[in-house]
Amino acid sequence: MPDTAPTPYDGFDRLPIAGSWRAGGAGRTRADVDPFSGETLVEIPLADADDLDAAYRAARGAQRDWAAALPAERAAVMAAAAQVMEARREEIVGWLIHEAGSTRLKAALEWDAAHAVFLEAATLPHLVEGRLLPADVPGKEGRAYRQPVGVVGVISPWNWPLQLTARSLAPALAVGNGVVLKPASDTPVTGGLLPAKILEQAGLPGGLLSVLVGAGSEIGDAFVTHAIPRVISFTGSTPVGRGIARLAADAPIIKRLELELGGNGPLVVLDDADLELAVEAAVFGKFLHQGQICMIANRLIVDDRLYDAFLEGFVERVRALKVGDPADPDTFVGPIINRRQLDGLTARIAHARASGARELLGGEPDGLVLPPHVFADVSNDDELARNELFGPIAPVIRSRDEDEALRIANDTEYGLSSAVFSADLGRGVRFARRVEAGMTHVNDQPVNDLPFNPFGGEKNSGIGRFNGRWAVDAFTSDHWVTVQHAPRRYPTSAREVEAQVGASTGG
Ligand code: NAD
Repeated sequence: MPDTAPTPYDGFDRLPIAGSWRAGGAGRTRADVDPFSGETLVEIPLADADDLDAAYRAARGAQRDWAAALPAERAAVMAAAAQVMEARREEIVGWLIHEAGSTRLKAALEWDAAHAVFLEAATLPHLVEGRLLPADVPGKEGRAYRQPVGVVGVISPWNWPLQLTARSLAPALAVGNGVVLKPASDTPVTGGLLPAKILEQAGLPGGLLSVLVGAGSEIGDAFVTHAIPRVISFTGSTPVGRGIARLAADAPIIKRLELELGGNGPLVVLDDADLELAVEAAVFGKFLHQGQICMIANRLIVDDRLYDAFLEGFVERVRALKVGDPADPDTFVGPIINRRQLDGLTARIAHARASGARELLGGEPDGLVLPPHVFADVSNDDELARNELFGPIAPVIRSRDEDEALRIANDTEYGLSSAVFSADLGRGVRFARRVEAGMTHVNDQPVNDLPFNPFGGEKNSGIGRFNGRWAVDAFTSDHWVTVQHAPRRYPTSAREVEAQVGASTGG
């Protein structure tokens, strides 16, 4: 590793499309803005439908050689990407702070997570395994060849842009696919252009990856319905995910979908929980990245026996959080990503106040920085509890007992992450297994995404699982090939079939 930091990347005023960095065909740009300072970081050129078509064709063309490369060659590119990330850690963290409004703490955590994704991806080429299958026909051998799907379209959100792009991009590439990537408009660099630079430096063949930034009206639908991609990997909100599922179903060639959608995660504190532990975890699991995380503890459900003590400890700790400049290493709550999101949050707060909610902590926004809010005695039917808040607002709900806590936890259309606190691990696990969610953490807050562990949601939180073997499955497909070793006798009457139990015509 070199001692001196490498020269920072430049050229983010162009897009990597079909093998070269160039202006987009739309002939317009969009300002990429720092949400805390309001400064324009770079003018990003916008792509059009012709760029999209060129990107998909180039990915298809480059993918055949890439799929045929040795697994170790693909693994080496992923490992090299992790090394590039190490050499450029400060540069990457800086982009996450300034473009995505990440606090330095969150940027450091996101760097770790994205780095782990590339390290994990370096192992995946060797996990693409076929099988020999028993076949109920004399002399027949069944084989399942596992192969890349071809080209994957990846759409990522703005909240953890580098990691959530990497979580689809790296495994899709590692197992032999080409990728066309559409990052969120608020995070074109950290969600797209930066990972493209890193992979280019790591030796990814040209044309295999294109990044398109563009208006949804110009490239949104065609991105999904284009004939080339076989899988669309979408991470974002549930309404947009639903729209993508409709488009995918109606596309001329139907698409496989990986959908990682919204959440309304419960953090449940049972009557025997370690109060200190639960309070500390709830502060982190509610306010990290200003609450703008799909897995966040959207609702805090606390048993009546601990309720008052929990509220007291929680409010005291939240009041002490440093709020403001995300670049300050001690800041825990930084800016909201944009004005529209902030306006949505202040409208929810105004509605809660107007409905007579008990506000224990609050304050007014300063620029795009919204101080943490705590509302007590919230009902699970209140607007604050029904919706994914995606902001620094904590609704606390009182539960009578364990059964009621479970009923409240499950009374939501979502099922992404969740958490339960109990001093009795057996009780915690029994509770966890009854939560209708893809992920439940016992005695830990709900924001967890670890290499080789399955990440994904149930209900309206999505379809599919990421990481490790689950990511291999997501971006590969089985091809069933049979070999008839001995001549096969085809029946000419029902009597012959009945005499030959287990025989199959294959039809
Ligand atoms: P969003 O749904 O508004 O946008 C996500 C992406 O979709 C962006 O890149 C956006 O440009 C693109 N997009 C929007 N409309 C489109 C269209 N019609 N066609 C094609 N692409 C379109 O979500 P967001 O505001 O960027 O992110 C926040 C949401 O994402 C929250 O609901 C959060 O829970 C969810 N999320 C889920 C996960 C997860 O892993 N389950 C992770 C992070 C965020």
